Amino acid sequence: MSLADYKGVFVFIEQRHGEVQTVSLELLGRGRQLADELGVTLTGLLVGNNVKGLSDNLIQHGADKVIVVEGPEYDIYSTEAYTQAVVEVINNKKPEIFLMGASTLGRDLGPRVSARLATGLVADCTSLDLSEDTKELMMTRPAFGGNLMATIMCPDHRPQIATVRPGVMEKLHTEVVRTGEVEDYKASLDTSKFKVKVLEVVKEEKEMVKIEDASILVSGGRGVGGADNFVKLEALADELDAVVSGSRVAIDSGWLPHDRQVGQTGKTVRPDLYFAIGISGSIQHVAGMEESEFIVAINKDKDAQIFNVADLGIVGDLNKILPVLTEELKKVKAAK
Ligand SMILES: Cc1cc2nc3c(=O)[nH]c(=O)nc-3n(C[C@H](O)[C@H](O)[C@H](O)COP(=O)(O)OP(=O)(O)OC[C@H]3O[C@@H](n4cnc5c(N)ncnc54)[C@H](O)[C@@H]3O)c2cc1C
Repeated sequence: MSLADYKGVFVFIEQRHGEVQTVSLELLGRGRQLADELGVTLTGLLVGNNVKGLSDNLIQHGADKVIVVEGPEYDIYSTEAYTQAVVEVINNKKPEIFLMGASTLGRDLGPRVSARLATGLVADCTSLDLSEDTKELMMTRPAFGGNLMATIMCPDHRPQIATVRPGVMEKLHTEVVRTGEVEDYKASLDTSKFKVKVLEVVKEEKEMVKIEDASILVSGGRGVGGADNFVKLEALADELDAVVSGSRVAIDSGWLPHDRQVGQTGKTVRPDLYFAIGISGSIQHVAGMEESEFIVAINKDKDAQIFNVADLGIVGDLNKILPVLTEELKKVKAAK
């Protein structure tokens, strides 16, 4: 393999039912910076059925170019069809960096693609940088249960593939009108290799909440004391059009479902406003919310670590503070 043949940064664009997933837009944001630093182009690779219309939005979010692989075979995600298409495009276009979301889909597709290309993949990265001298990608992720951060490189093979957790990177601000190129790509699928056939798709009844997309989060921890007491947080969240989330203790205790966990082993969030209520501020929790725009902490312990990252700290009993805060917000809304 001649490494010099590989140029450019690619982002795999994950779409579901024609909706681009936020993590892909976040990766275009970071990909744009990496491409600028390397002096190369940023390409979005979009696979799906009737998805070309999404290209403008991808260009707006930083892509110089969008490669569109379309067809009924890609209507519903299947590992084999998507792997074949992505591998063929990579073999053909030879990007030096290939980024994907560490979503359920990305975690399935990424390893398969990297194995077929006989290159490396670093999963669940929390930061991506370029080495100053070689300009190789430095992919950083938590290791050993989060006790240390490992920076991993892929010096001998290309592309350098990384999956990145949703919520970690920042989307590009899209005020500037950007233009770019859209290329249709017809991948030659070998259907004899398809081992799985999707007969039916059954949608889960439960409404999935994406805390990483919420602009306001009201998060509760052990201090809330029990599932029943979360009504106080829900009442506050209702007034603010916010979503309720929690620390690992709140999830492990069964007070909230798993998709609401904030932190190193949960979701990384960066809302405009984050309430940390009865949460002590462990490093594992803070790792998932410290990038929030404005943090309000309510804790009865004035020395709680959460106050180190809070923009506004309220020392006191959440059981007394929350009803008052919610009432005051009601009054403000009524007065409007
Ligand atoms: C490998 C690993 C990964 C982890 N991943 C995560 C993760 O993803 N997310 C996560 O959150 N944690 C994670 N943890 C757990 C983490 O270390 C902490 O144990 C956890 O975050 C503590 O949750 P907490 O703040 O709700 O509880 P506590 O640390 O027990 O804090 C409770 C807080 O509530 C306050 N309080 C109590 N009563 C009241 C009251 N009436 N009014 C106001 N304040 C009150 C207390 O003063 C205290 O500060 C991880 C741990 C490990 C080892």
